[in-house]
Amino acid sequence: MKIICIGRNYIDHAKELNNPVPSRPLVFMKPASALLKDGRDFYYPEFSKDIHFELELVLKISKNGKYIEERLAEKYYDEIGLGIDFTARDLQNKCKEKGHPWEIAKAFDHSAVLGKFISKSELEEGNIDFKLLKNGEIVQNGNSIDLIFPFATLIAHVSKFFTLNKGDLLFTGTPAGVGPVQVGDQLEGLIGESSLLQCEVK
Ligand code: ZN
Repeated sequence: MKIICIGRNYIDHAKELNNPVPSRPLVFMKPASALLKDGRDFYYPEFSKDIHFELELVLKISKNGKYIEERLAEKYYDEIGLGIDFTARDLQNKCKEKGHPWEIAKAFDHSAVLGKFISKSELEEGNIDFKLLKNGEIVQNGNSIDLIFPFATLIAHVSKFFTLNKGDLLFTGTPAGVGPVQVGDQLEGLIGESSLLQCEVK
């Protein structure tokens, strides 16, 4: 199982971090050891002082495929859920400055929090409203209508480079509003009114 992630896929988020808006999807990966699921606690790692949450819509790949055409892409995922792409922003900024790879900032243990999934037949894909609450307050509120690269474009692009296998996860990028977490924070992710993801920072 692999976790494929997309960066800067919402204009407002690219702007808030002073990044250019990409002309093609920005792709990175996390290993299976990054996964944190079933509402487990996230333990703040000792190597960072600036862990940020990034709430993202996640596609669960349902079929193996390579060089998938955009018009067929929707056959390759059947469920949509929420994930948090935890990012060590301090390490990431150093990596970016030096032009180094950013795995230590993005792919560390438990950096991919995964919530529950909904069958995509229950959702209107071009209009999925989702939000993150931190200690009960809304900190991120996004909608799939604002994706720079929609799901089909991402599947087609990513599958040129990596064979997609059943069970792989595709994190589709975060909207604006990313910010730091502290020990004791309670995070909750919702699609519409459905609470799909819970995580406490310890
Ligand atoms: Zn992200």
